[in-house]
Amino acid sequence: MHCAVIAHGGYGWPNRHVPSRLPFRRSSHRTVAHARRAAAAPFPAVAAPPFAVAGRRMVDRSVAKFALAIRQTPRYAFLEIAMPCPTGTFTARWLVPVCQRPICGGWLRVEQGKVVALEASSPPGDCIDLGDVAVLPGLVNCHTHLEFSDLPSPLGEPGGALPAWVATVVRHRLAQATDSPSVIAQRRASAIVAGCAESTAAGVRLLGEIATLPWLEGDAATAATAEELRIIAFAETLGLRSERANQTFQAAEDWIRQSMSRRSLGRNISFGYSPHAPYSTSLELVDRCVSQACRFRLPLAMHLAESREELQLLDEGRGPFREVLESLGAWQADAFPQPGGVGECLKRLARAPRCLVVHGNYLTDDQITFLATQPQMSVIFCPRTHAFFQHDPYPLSRLLEAGVRVGLGTDSRASNPDLKLWEEVRHVLATVPAVTVESVLKMATLWGADALGQSDCGRLAVGARPGLWTLPTSATDETELWQAIANATAPCPLG
Ligand SMILES: [Zn+2]
Repeated sequence: MHCAVIAHGGYGWPNRHVPSRLPFRRSSHRTVAHARRAAAAPFPAVAAPPFAVAGRRMVDRSVAKFALAIRQTPRYAFLEIAMPCPTGTFTARWLVPVCQRPICGGWLRVEQGKVVALEASSPPGDCIDLGDVAVLPGLVNCHTHLEFSDLPSPLGEPGGALPAWVATVVRHRLAQATDSPSVIAQRRASAIVAGCAESTAAGVRLLGEIATLPWLEGDAATAATAEELRIIAFAETLGLRSERANQTFQAAEDWIRQSMSRRSLGRNISFGYSPHAPYSTSLELVDRCVSQACRFRLPLAMHLAESREELQLLDEGRGPFREVLESLGAWQADAFPQPGGVGECLKRLARAPRCLVVHGNYLTDDQITFLATQPQMSVIFCPRTHAFFQHDPYPLSRLLEAGVRVGLGTDSRASNPDLKLWEEVRHVLATVPAVTVESVLKMATLWGADALGQSDCGRLAVGARPGLWTLPTSATDETELWQAIANATAPCPLG
């Protein structure tokens, strides 16, 4: 689907309304076979479609896709299918609201993507029976850099040190900077659009994006998010020297103000600030971002406690990060060491109305204890990126035991092979057996949405607009259900 969407428009996507109602029909063997062939090529591998048991009304997702596809002109067919906005009353073997215990049986009604009823009682007569599946809310990816979504594989080598990887990323950008500004902007926009499409296909309905400017503009942004994908775009600022810090801060200011006042990026994109990281951003610039976040009630995201080399720079003012900064001509002698290090940074960030601490790989017990007292702060774990750099074991159990809200992120394709959030879930389940399936599912939905301040995402609840997906299961109790969720290979969007 990724490629299909690019082929059908890329940056030049038309701003087109997506139909809100899908034509569920009783299936026949003939239409099922045709639908499967029609749906097979452009979509990534997904769990088997749900078939109802004998005697129950049968709904086949592929038939719905096929029926929709043949109603659309070929030019827009894949785009329309990729972003369904279901309307209907549904029942299934399990509903998994995430914000409350799973419901066996029960039903929910969705109108143009919004849950308007959720009941544990017997389904009404006009209910569409999805059969032996569990219905779950759309996924939340709390941390991305979509500008790298055109990369076929991560930059650098697995296990490489973060400072060297940062230098590689900077060189990657510089190599592309020889083109004209319009070409650079268009290439970046195409990558972001591709990343949106990849995320949507992977069941993601809410993204926390670090927006390196220039980001998406106008119709491209509106089309990329269409009806179903919501983005919190954190405008990136950085600079150890005042000139560079002023420049990036002003650019972020202008972009946020103009985009908000003109509503030029559509209703599905909202904003925040992102002072990049302690090794690239002065404390003064962090404070300026926090002040603006307070003034306009915007969220803030910052990479923090990501590597041992970062801690060494903050504590001692030397090490590999200093060497990289010197080689890039970005070293500022009076910026390091920083008294208080990561702990001081956390205290300053805590003033913001909402803050995402991205990575937090090397948070100490004291810092975790502090975070547990700050409900406006969340930590974002990027499992496969963490594995790519071969960091020390992630302090996930300590964070959860302390009561810190943890969300999941893919980070970018510069450190991860794809943007499939469910693969992060599978990675955590495979590598951190002490954490329950329920907790990891909350990280991928409910807690991620709360971290981003979007309380109507990441849960099945009346008033929410979570997006829905299903996984096949004939579980007869919660234990079997959690096992089925743990075994799920990929989200199968309901549409
Ligand atoms: Zn990042």
